[in-house]
Amino acid sequence: MTERTPRIAIIGAGPAGLTLARILHINGIAATVFEREEHALSRPQGGTLDLHAESGQLALRRAGLEREFLRIARYEDQGSRLYDKDGQLIMADDDDSGDRPEANRSALREILLASLPDGTVQWGRELREVYARPDGAYDLAFGVDLLGPFDLVVGADGAWSRVRPLVSRYRPQYSGLTFIEFGIDDVDARHPAISALVGRGKIGAEGDGRSMIVQRNANAHLRGYAIFRVPADWAERTFDFSAPAAARARLMAEFDGWAPALLALIAASNDHIVARAIHALPVGHHWQNRVGVTLLGDAAHVMSPFGGEGVNAAMLDAAELARHLVEASDWKEAVKLYEQEMFDRVVEPATHAAEAAATELSHIGPELTLEHVRRHAEMRAEMAAAG
Ligand SMILES: Cc1cc2nc3c(=O)[nH]c(=O)nc-3n(C[C@H](O)[C@H](O)[C@H](O)COP(=O)(O)OP(=O)(O)OC[C@H]3O[C@@H](n4cnc5c(N)ncnc54)[C@H](O)[C@@H]3O)c2cc1C
Repeated sequence: MTERTPRIAIIGAGPAGLTLARILHINGIAATVFEREEHALSRPQGGTLDLHAESGQLALRRAGLEREFLRIARYEDQGSRLYDKDGQLIMADDDDSGDRPEANRSALREILLASLPDGTVQWGRELREVYARPDGAYDLAFGVDLLGPFDLVVGADGAWSRVRPLVSRYRPQYSGLTFIEFGIDDVDARHPAISALVGRGKIGAEGDGRSMIVQRNANAHLRGYAIFRVPADWAERTFDFSAPAAARARLMAEFDGWAPALLALIAASNDHIVARAIHALPVGHHWQNRVGVTLLGDAAHVMSPFGGEGVNAAMLDAAELARHLVEASDWKEAVKLYEQEMFDRVVEPATHAAEAAATELSHIGPELTLEHVRRHAEMRAEMAAAG
């Protein structure tokens, strides 16, 4: 970059924001990351993510973190099985030779954080408002503090981005699906039958308008999602999450009539049971370029988690925005180029995620899910072949 280097603020220390900060850093461009959480471990960072060769892993290579990634990557956990509600196996793919290894989200955050100079991330900074200054730069309001000026504000602040309203009127819409999340600890030692049922990777089960996904995480931990097509406020009306035993019993009652082996997954869950209403921006969401503001990751294109593309798309956005900023002679043009390419690139995964959400829990049962899983596998093979 030959023009004056912009003063860059990145809002959000998720996978997108941290990847961007890291790649800029190794290319000699400083940025400050503002994160609302008080510190790196102030909340559980969520479950396991599969990082794809052509996106998530590519971003980590460009970040110079390939070796660090290999230390946390679980190639052995790429399997996938689908059951019906009677516990009959209807599809199994136990092949671990693919290139979509799993990594725990907190481990990913740790390697990205460790790669940044001290002070890059300012914790406990929840962005409240962005103010445009008469000189074209921006000031950022955090609580009572006003920080700035910044030439480029990057919204990497997830689905409910406070930066997005500067460029877009759209807000994520409820997909009609609510996940009730649960976890099983120390599964290999304490629940060998469940460990064998789930195998290495993840299982899905569907029937009677309900479904379940359970994924193997690191450290013999399983994370499960019970999935319902219900109004957005159903979970809070139905469960008392402050009384986990009652919430667990209520959840089991929702799966009445399912095979005991599948019900055992819920029965074995620990007390961390929470609801996640799934929201998405419309496929093709885009905006008119506004000098000094851009979005990446979920802030730009939150999609339903079916297909596991969200974090990969977010990290590729970061890698591509960084590449354009490093290569371009004019940072404003670099941002424009990044946006144009990102809008096009994200349409396909967002379409697949939206289709999967629309067909999940359909009345024709698991056949559609199976069809979707097959089509998704074909798409992945095509993307991998295209490099
Ligand atoms: C239940 C569920 C399961 C999922 N499973 C998968 C999966 O298996 N594979 C996959 O690829 N994707 C999955 N996803 C999607 C994935 O989590 C996201 O696509 C990914 O985390 C996006 O990264 P990001 O950095 O853009 O945003 P985020 O990870 O949301 O990070 C945003 C960061 O910004 C911070 N922040 C937010 N607001 C502010 C503010 N005002 N000021 C300062 N900081 C702020 C947040 O605290 C957070 O640290 C799943 C999502 C859900 C809900």
